[in-house]
Amino acid sequence: MATATKSPAKKTTTKKVAEKKTTEKKTAGKSSASASAKKIPAKKGAAKELKDLFEDGLKDIYWAEKALAKALPKMQKNATSEKLKTAIADHLMETEKQITRLEDCFAALGKKAQAKKCDAMQGLLDEGKGIMEETKPGSVRDAGIISAAQKVEHYEIATYGTLAAFAKVLKEKECLSLLLKTLEEEKKCDELLTKIADTNLNEKAK
Ligand code: FE
Ligand code: FE
Ligand code: FE
Repeated sequence: MATATKSPAKKTTTKKVAEKKTTEKKTAGKSSASASAKKIPAKKGAAKELKDLFEDGLKDIYWAEKALAKALPKMQKNATSEKLKTAIADHLMETEKQITRLEDCFAALGKKAQAKKCDAMQGLLDEGKGIMEETKPGSVRDAGIISAAQKVEHYEIATYGTLAAFAKVLKEKECLSLLLKTLEEEKKCDELLTKIADTNLNEKAK
């Protein structure tokens, strides 16, 4: 009995505290996140010029493409739709060409091809693996594979778009044409995945 009468009072207190906190936040003007935000000190050897940032970006996507080339066969094996399997197999061949194109790009800059871990691609591939584990094989897993693959393609489109813009500004013509070629392939792959999902998969996966 005692607890029954006590609990509503407790609730009111918690509510009051919560209200107070909200008011404090509002009056402070800034959220606690922005108040604690700081300028990040640059690491040793940090990029000074756009050319350095461009080269760092190439190293990042070089790593990402190589990681993707390793992951695509797993996605292909887990897919059921023949159309999807073929699309993944075709994109694996394209990815291998894209890796060579990046090596050509490094060569055009007079640099040795170097890979630097891309945390974003690692995350996207981990998520893709998680989606496969969380779906039963068939049209539902296929829909999951497409969603993961499209996130990868969108990351690549953003990356190549930026790198091509950098190459243009830096007047690195050979790199620019190589990067634009890959950018087109990534966009086409993304469109094809949308088409596969729209034409049959997502309906079947319902
Ligand atoms: Fe690619
Ligand atoms: Fe990256
Ligand atoms: Fe791609």
